[in-house]
Amino acid sequence: MFDVIIAGCGPTGAMLAAELRLHDVRVLVLEKETEPVSFVRIVGLHIRSIELMAMRGLLERILERGRQRPAGGFFAAIDKPVPEGLDSAHAYLLGIPQPVIVHLLEEHAIELGAQVRRGCAVADLEQDDDGVTVELADGEQLRSRYLVGCDGGRSTVRKLLGVGFPGEPSRTETLMGEMEVGVPQEEITAKVTEIRETDKRLSLGPAGVGAYRVVVPAAGVSDRAEPPTLEDFKQQLRAIAGTDFGVHSPRWLSRFGDATRLAERYRVGRVLLAGDAAHIHPPIGGQGLNLGVQDAFNLGWKLAAQIRGWAPDTLLDTYQAERHPVAEDVLDNTRAQMELLSTEPGPQAVRRLLTELMDFDEVNRYLIEKITAIGIRYDFGEGPDLLGRRLRDIDVKQDHLYGLLHRGRGLLLDRTEGLTVGGWSDRVDYLADPTAALDGPCVLLRPDGHVAWIGDDQQDLDDHLSRWFGKPN
Ligand SMILES: Cc1cc2nc3c(=O)[nH]c(=O)nc-3n(C[C@H](O)[C@H](O)[C@H](O)COP(=O)(O)OP(=O)(O)OC[C@H]3O[C@@H](n4cnc5c(N)ncnc54)[C@H](O)[C@@H]3O)c2cc1C
Repeated sequence: MFDVIIAGCGPTGAMLAAELRLHDVRVLVLEKETEPVSFVRIVGLHIRSIELMAMRGLLERILERGRQRPAGGFFAAIDKPVPEGLDSAHAYLLGIPQPVIVHLLEEHAIELGAQVRRGCAVADLEQDDDGVTVELADGEQLRSRYLVGCDGGRSTVRKLLGVGFPGEPSRTETLMGEMEVGVPQEEITAKVTEIRETDKRLSLGPAGVGAYRVVVPAAGVSDRAEPPTLEDFKQQLRAIAGTDFGVHSPRWLSRFGDATRLAERYRVGRVLLAGDAAHIHPPIGGQGLNLGVQDAFNLGWKLAAQIRGWAPDTLLDTYQAERHPVAEDVLDNTRAQMELLSTEPGPQAVRRLLTELMDFDEVNRYLIEKITAIGIRYDFGEGPDLLGRRLRDIDVKQDHLYGLLHRGRGLLLDRTEGLTVGGWSDRVDYLADPTAALDGPCVLLRPDGHVAWIGDDQQDLDDHLSRWFGKPN
């Protein structure tokens, strides 16, 4: 009997496993693939995800393996400088391949004590009042108190639950692969730059020693059962660029679509959904992995609280209440970005107009905060603007804020030095006189770094501690 079984060891499942282990929850991750996938999706970690890594002590490991780049230029690939003074200590994009992120997160989860079983596909589930019975493809049955489907866009768990996945099917497909080229780099750069002035859907860029990553629109929408061939790439390159650049010796070839869908519910009883299992959208803006990892970060401590027995009645349902609107917003911004990539005259005119508007600092900043997820404000009710937002990493005495959040607990920052976390001290840490830079006399942070309360009154604080952390001891 496990506390939680997670279906899928992608970035979402691995992050969730690690978050649950911080609270000693017995976790089993079931992954249908026997080996980690080496397929490289073009991934960068955006600011908020980098902050999450910093909050759990993973920053150094992840920085070692990635390359820091400017945080801007992601909205519909409109190239604008990053505005001054973005509200983060980590105001950059970290270019890092998805397999590396998954490896690091899985390693972290295992170090914390999560079990990962590969070659195990979840095939069926049945839930009752006490738990969930999970059946694997080979007929083996396992039992847990909760199950989380982190099993990607074609989620078996979501289908077994019968949760609707409304949205739009793929209208266009794109081919992506890594291969060698037969012409000099200057020739490629000149041609690609010329085409990208009007068509941002094509790109060819170096991807490690001797290889190029090629992204080119596919001829049509396929049933995706068959992987694309090198000939498909050549044909499309010739159709769009007038040359196939002598591409040869592919390392891998893939195709992806622009289907946009959002699960109607994130929870049915003891079974929850997170990551691509709950939402899919085109990769423009590079948000999908980030969104899934942030779902896991939101869900982890709440599910752990439920299992440890201190969760207030409504806590687990705040997962959907908070994360569903965030996904809705990401889906919408990718819809908008896809329109802006169209080569039709109307969308091109809108693109030119938006490009001009982005010269206004506020517009540029707003879009960057959206894509990087630092602009998110959960609805915690009436209060100052900071309430419901995440707090940036700030210097606190002898340390920095995120360094105090590694254990995934709540934190009270008390400038008055007169308050106490009292009977919640097993779940919430306390820091007196943290820093003058704090926006408010005292701030209560949830384990995910979002501001749950601002004030200076003990009774009001106790009410909010109860709201988020249950009954005191
Ligand atoms: C071309 C491309 C480029 C992208 N670029 C970016 C980017 O730059 N930035 C970004 O943030 N996102 C990007 N994304 C999106 C990102 O790849 C996904 O959002 C991310 O992989 C979702 O993570 P996940 O863990 O939710 O799902 P997945 O990564 O799909 O992982 C699901 C896991 O579940 C396993 N599984 C499936 N079924 C079962 C089952 N029945 N039982 C057990 N295991 C199962 C799978 O094998 C898989 O390992 C891109 C996507 C594409 C296609």
